[in-house]
Amino acid sequence: MTLSTSRRNILAIIAVLALSAGLAMLGADSASANGNGRVIAVTGVASVDNEQVLVHIIAVVNAGRSDQEVAEAALRGVNARGLTASDYTLLANSWDQFSDGNAGNDYVVQRYNAIGEPSGARAAIDLSRATWNGADSPFAFQVPMGATNICPSLVNECKGRQAFDGNNDIAWMKLRDANTLGVTWSGTSTDEADVAFNTNFTWSNDDPASAIDIETVALHELGHVAGIGHSDVIGSIMEPVYAGIRRTLTADDIAALQAWYGSTGGATATPEPTPDTTPTATPTPEPSPTALYVGTSSAGDGVAYSTSGRNGRDLIIEVTITDGSAANTVEGASVSIAVDDESGSYGTGSGTTDANGTVRWRIKNGASGTWFTTVTSATLSGLSCGDCGEVFGYPG
Ligand SMILES: [Zn+2]
Repeated sequence: MTLSTSRRNILAIIAVLALSAGLAMLGADSASANGNGRVIAVTGVASVDNEQVLVHIIAVVNAGRSDQEVAEAALRGVNARGLTASDYTLLANSWDQFSDGNAGNDYVVQRYNAIGEPSGARAAIDLSRATWNGADSPFAFQVPMGATNICPSLVNECKGRQAFDGNNDIAWMKLRDANTLGVTWSGTSTDEADVAFNTNFTWSNDDPASAIDIETVALHELGHVAGIGHSDVIGSIMEPVYAGIRRTLTADDIAALQAWYGSTGGATATPEPTPDTTPTATPTPEPSPTALYVGTSSAGDGVAYSTSGRNGRDLIIEVTITDGSAANTVEGASVSIAVDDESGSYGTGSGTTDANGTVRWRIKNGASGTWFTTVTSATLSGLSCGDCGEVFGYPG
């Protein structure tokens, strides 16, 4: 990023990586789980062997119940508490073998317990593993999975004491909380992750109308196994909703994986095709954007101000660029702004939008007084800005 100031030299520019991690309770998307109700995701913290473990739960909200009730019941079912702000650092778990300088161990070994599995489950989970392996990253699951008949040791429904046993297991079982679809347990310092799918539900590979799609949920849970938290990017695999079949990683999911493990520079050996046997599951192609917009092109929604720093003295200017719909933020767009204060031109800034379509600038000791931001240009791949030039004031 570059910056020039016309009047003062205290205008500083920073890029803030947006936190796309799990919240204590997310959801809110009114996706239907095939007549079972809406689906929410809950991330909690529990303790195993004196280590904090993360528990990612997907649960169904039936009619007449609130998201909060279902989230709390799901957490109780695993003896976990919800995440608090201070827990976000816990989400920084990735597999150490990818950074030890030894390429010979660069895979995650998993074992599969077929007891109680729905028809076709193994094949669907193998496809979801192959999808993550096909992303442009050194991260990989070892293929094929080994077999086990042991209950995953981190899953609290298994008999005996919850423990790290050095194995990463996937199993089907009746989970205590009736609304929980699936759960991933992972260590915060020990590299181990166990997954359980709830046999209380009807699962399928090819019946999206009346069953939960195995590959879709497995793809999400395996993202947690890889170390990825939730995303607020609509349509992403790591978005904490179940909204029907989703079997393809989005740019956001791949960016999250690459944030941990880097990329292979596009040299992915075998992009695994994901056969889709379901005619109704044809993904809707994204419409090609014709222009970029500040927010959704309705005035004022693409520039946000907040204060931070000591005593809230700094002013943060946040600009979000989309292709015109609220859902489709644009990554990698070059954005320039001009900032005025009460006495006129204050300075200019430029930057590139992050994975959430956002660039942020900080004005030190700029919180009081009146400010005006004009997005002077936003460009990406030949697209230009459809509504640049509007002035966004602060406060109000
Ligand atoms: Zn999740």
